[in-house]
Amino acid sequence: MALSVVDLYRDILPKTNCKDCGYSTCLAFASMVVSEKLPLDTCPHLEPEIIERCRTELDEQYAAGKWLKRDMAQDAFEWAREKASSMDIADLPERIGGQLLKSGDKIILELPYFTGSVLITNENITKKDGSELTRWEKVFLYNHIAQGGSSFPTGKWKGLIEFPNTVSKIKSMVDHVELPLIERFKRKTEELIEKATEIGGIIKKDKDQSSGISILFCPLPKVPIKLMFWDISINDDFGNVDFDPEVKLLFDETIIEHLDIESIMFLSERLKQLLCDEP
Ligand code: SF4
Repeated sequence: MALSVVDLYRDILPKTNCKDCGYSTCLAFASMVVSEKLPLDTCPHLEPEIIERCRTELDEQYAAGKWLKRDMAQDAFEWAREKASSMDIADLPERIGGQLLKSGDKIILELPYFTGSVLITNENITKKDGSELTRWEKVFLYNHIAQGGSSFPTGKWKGLIEFPNTVSKIKSMVDHVELPLIERFKRKTEELIEKATEIGGIIKKDKDQSSGISILFCPLPKVPIKLMFWDISINDDFGNVDFDPEVKLLFDETIIEHLDIESIMFLSERLKQLLCDEP
């Protein structure tokens, strides 16, 4: 018989809400056990025989997927892979860049990705250097393969808000990309330059932008991103004036031919992670 959250709470757990498991209530703990496979013995107040008795029932319902929270990354991965699986790899360089390699009968696309490159077949995507891509990175790359247009960047830059249907994403861009970058590199422009150079960024200090820098990244062959960073301290006649730092990401106007809005958000966050040394 399967164990629901209510069964577990009502019949098994002590219901003391002592928080020793790290959850604020026994009910919250029960929900994590049933939907996220949190081990039952994380609660230190259960007899080993009870844990053993429940384990069989829990293992059976986990195997059947009963009440388990959906694995969104896996769902998205399967969907994106299916979308890309019908693509002819040989057509891709013209659309999204990269070069074709041959391995036996198999055609592989080698696509530059940040400072390295990825190897793409209809069945899989791997990093050329053998390190792992996260599932979300694979989803992102499959989406690019499926959607990527053939246009080259025009050099006309736009903020996210200037693209259609992005209003709901502006807050995420500020909260998850711009503010963390400001926090990390406030008064540390030289560190930003160093990190950006490490991941292939090209630094520009324009004369008429003496107060800020712009950094050009090419995470994908036809998808450039410009990061603007202002962190100024001006010496005027009245002394030193500090201004709050500002960060802005700009995208080539053709980006929406190559990536959907979710993928643009993913790429922006990935860039932030790389700059901030996050995994
Ligand atoms: S440790 Fe056990 S008894 Fe305490 S709150 Fe967690 S589930 Fe409830």
